[in-house]
Amino acid sequence: MSNPKPISGQSAETIAAISTPPGRGGIGIVRLSGPQAASIAAQLVSLRQPLEHGRARLADVLDANNSASYATRIDEALVTFFAAPHSYTAEDLVEIAAHGSPVVLDLLLRRALDLGARLAKPGEFTQRAFLAGRLDLTQAEAVRDLIEAQTLTQARQAASQMGGALSRRVAPVKQSLVELVALLEAGIDFAEDDVDVTPQAEIARRIAELTPPLAALEASFARGRIVHDGLTLAIVGRPNAGKSSLFNRLVERERAIVTATPGTTRDPVTERISLEGIPLELVDTAGLREGLCENLEEAEKLGIHRSREALADAALVLVVLDATQPLNDEERRLLAAVEGRSALVAINKSDLADKASPLDQLSSTHALRTSALTGKGIAALRERILALATGGAAEEPGMLTSLRHHQAIATSLAALADAAQANATAIPHEMILLDLYRALSALDSLTGQTTSDDILNLIFSTFCIGK
Ligand code: GDP
Repeated sequence: MSNPKPISGQSAETIAAISTPPGRGGIGIVRLSGPQAASIAAQLVSLRQPLEHGRARLADVLDANNSASYATRIDEALVTFFAAPHSYTAEDLVEIAAHGSPVVLDLLLRRALDLGARLAKPGEFTQRAFLAGRLDLTQAEAVRDLIEAQTLTQARQAASQMGGALSRRVAPVKQSLVELVALLEAGIDFAEDDVDVTPQAEIARRIAELTPPLAALEASFARGRIVHDGLTLAIVGRPNAGKSSLFNRLVERERAIVTATPGTTRDPVTERISLEGIPLELVDTAGLREGLCENLEEAEKLGIHRSREALADAALVLVVLDATQPLNDEERRLLAAVEGRSALVAINKSDLADKASPLDQLSSTHALRTSALTGKGIAALRERILALATGGAAEEPGMLTSLRHHQAIATSLAALADAAQANATAIPHEMILLDLYRALSALDSLTGQTTSDDILNLIFSTFCIGK
């Protein structure tokens, strides 16, 4: 573990990147950060007024052709300057908003590089903001998550983390831990001077107090993880059971082909939906058939193979049965195969079998009667899917959303447990302190205070260029 490098070494270089996505758009932005940002910008475009902090300035982008004695205007731009330290990166930062033509933006970027800037690495603007102490690591990660959000719930979650929700949850625990460490350190320093050493019971009480908030945080990962990453739900069952129709009901629009001929859904069809803000990838798979691969066309065989793969990969499984048909062997095998997995059973076409369905024996807590035709049972199905996906865990502010967060908290909790145990055996305080420092360092790694450069680089490399 080493502390992040001071920004002075980093910020000697001015970085540049196109911050808007590749391709054409109404506007496109080239961003510069570093000590030369303003001077490079002033040479890059022809400013109509000098740059001033927090102000946007009109400028002309000139097509400087070596052979021509005068330069013609190729575009018009709006240049905004933020002077250090009052910018996103805490360095001088310039944003040049031109028309979103890749050609013009490339021209601006290439010229910026010619004028002494260096191409920014992915996430380097945010990394500089982090190194300058403008945001902690959880907040920096939230910037990336916000950009990558696919549902509004994900965006809200990222925004709350960007505002420091997670750091705020950790801060009081860290504060108490630091106080405990200080208390024990003082006891050691003064032990020979007759200062009272902190009693064992007091140490035990203080460690015990630290655990519940961290345990609650650790538990928040159950929901935080699926809000962040989403889940895959494979829809499986025999041909014609109504898988595609249920799929369409769940995605609320016609997507898969629905016909009365068995076996049309040969390739898995996938669709992303947002179920109460949780991104869910639905995979509608080819029907599983009895007497597999006998008398089947090649394409269908392939479909069934893919279907099995999709089934193996999915976190959740929805088995669709046809209420008008008795269970066949393949379905029995399928039900046995999903035993113990996060699986739901929909007895579909219940509109056709209102009274005695041959599948009524299955009406356990896991089986639900649905009709893709009338919509009956669909709302309940959504609810069941949601409950299964979240494990019942509720939404809360400052949830852990990544494995990195989870590992940090779990390590901290484990170290606290060790400290409690060490204390119980009346071990010297120096030994307890080792565990407490481990717990503290894990919390610090969450916010990035003790995260190694390698890990930092790895994290920021997952950002897009220009952020
Ligand atoms: P898949 O092969 O499992 O994907 O089945 P489909 O979704 O293609 O449905 C097969 C046939 O059953 C189509 O004609 C659907 O209109 C019909 N179907 C699907 N669900 C229901 C339902 O709940 N009730 C009734 N009456 N028909 C349904």
